[in-house]
Amino acid sequence: SAILWWVRRDMRTADNLLLAQAVATGRPLVPVFICDDAVEGLGAAPKWRLGLGLAAFGAALEKLGARLILRRGPALTVLRDLIAETGAGSVWWGRQYDDAAQARDSDVKSALRDAGLDARSFPGHLLFEPWTVKTGQGGFYRVYTPFWRAVAGREVDAPEPAPKRLIAPADWPASDALEDLRLGDAMQRGADVVAPHTNVGEALALDRLAHFTDGPIADYKAQRDLPAAPGTSRLSENLTYGEIGPRTIWHAGQRALAEGAAGAETFLKELVWREFAYHLMFHTPEILTRNWKPEWDSFPWQAEGPQIRRWQQGRTGVALVDAAMREMYVTGTMHNRGRMIVASYLTKHLMTHWRVGLDWFADCLIDWDPAANAMGWQWAAGSGPDASPYFRIFNPDTQAEKFDAKGVYRRRWLQTRGSGASDLALAFYDACPKAWGLSPDAPDPAPMISLSDGRARALEAYSARDRGK
Ligand code: FAD
Repeated sequence: SAILWWVRRDMRTADNLLLAQAVATGRPLVPVFICDDAVEGLGAAPKWRLGLGLAAFGAALEKLGARLILRRGPALTVLRDLIAETGAGSVWWGRQYDDAAQARDSDVKSALRDAGLDARSFPGHLLFEPWTVKTGQGGFYRVYTPFWRAVAGREVDAPEPAPKRLIAPADWPASDALEDLRLGDAMQRGADVVAPHTNVGEALALDRLAHFTDGPIADYKAQRDLPAAPGTSRLSENLTYGEIGPRTIWHAGQRALAEGAAGAETFLKELVWREFAYHLMFHTPEILTRNWKPEWDSFPWQAEGPQIRRWQQGRTGVALVDAAMREMYVTGTMHNRGRMIVASYLTKHLMTHWRVGLDWFADCLIDWDPAANAMGWQWAAGSGPDASPYFRIFNPDTQAEKFDAKGVYRRRWLQTRGSGASDLALAFYDACPKAWGLSPDAPDPAPMISLSDGRARALEAYSARDRGK
């Protein structure tokens, strides 16, 4: 009988244990993507980008003699329909680790097993399953460096090669049309602007990795902090949809290390930050929604106010913050240095709740990842595990002097019309909703609060919290 492959964040053919094992059975395989509530609930940019990924993956599967079946509805209902239509005896999927997905998947698994089916989940999204990394006392890690030490020496299996051909069922079940899933609806305003900045699908992801390990990885340590430089791998977009597997990246990094690339170890450590984020989310799912450190519950963060819109629009009047926010709006990604700075500025200088930022990123990032985003925000706010201490308030101007000394990044994103503005700076105005009423002819506004006053206000609130006020 056929195997149903419930495709989620594993849209690749290589480095895919599930697929390799399915092929080894010699049974027909029916890949199916289900547009369920979890997919419906995605933010505008990641949902739209998912649609691009599905189109590319469907085309890649066709080259292997297969199809990607698209269906809408609750997962269990859809799977039961497909089992009835295809006579499949197995339903296999790649694991996800947030609590909503875990709850859904374990319900699906027990319902299918109760019906006598072979329901199985596979690893592949991560290098290390979160429950396999344990402290000496058998608990989980709350601090990165010991986590790194615990995993750095582990053997990571070589990734499986892509199969050459997949066995088709005698009849393919019907598929919805991708357009009918309407994954791009909320993105109408910016899709044409963001599209040229995407790198969709497994083939392009592997090209990007090869390009990175052939060159930039050598200088990664020095270059990775410079937002204007193409110094990082930019693989987060592909990793989040599973268009490339982490083992493929890990082994490429190890090869570069063995060949003497100076930045390779730093790069591998960054890849393990992603593992750490998943480790934290698995063991403390509340990291997605609540202050990881409860002592922050009494902190007077604002969750509404005009400062939010100004920050979202990249119009705080603080150049580096605004440049980074516009980079995200136009490209769907933001340099890591920018993410740290805009998050610090929002939560500290503007005293705004980190959840506001977390939600905005979840709406705008084509590389949105629940675990990395939550860890990043709670780290920046000071409320998370292994967090940046509250008194460490990034000064965006000092950061700019250090990491964008020649102003290349700020000029790229900020010029108004008439000053020889870059296409990228103007693209922001094409991407943003008309309702914002922004024009490239209007000067950028003055800051809402000076950097020193904002810093002093945040520190005062912080010490008041500690005094129990
Ligand atoms: P590289 O520097 O080439 O690193 C390689 C890979 O390592 C990345 O693709 C990523 O998978 C992983 N990685 C690197 N740094 C981190 C990190 N700090 N935390 C977790 N994983 C990391 N990353 C996301 O993928 N999705 C998000 O939604 C996201 N939100 C963030 C929000 C905030 C406030 C902060 C501070 C960071 C966030 N990050 C997020 C982490 C980081 O900024 C991005 O992973 C990185 O910028 C991606 O660029 P790259 O692929 O070129 O990374």
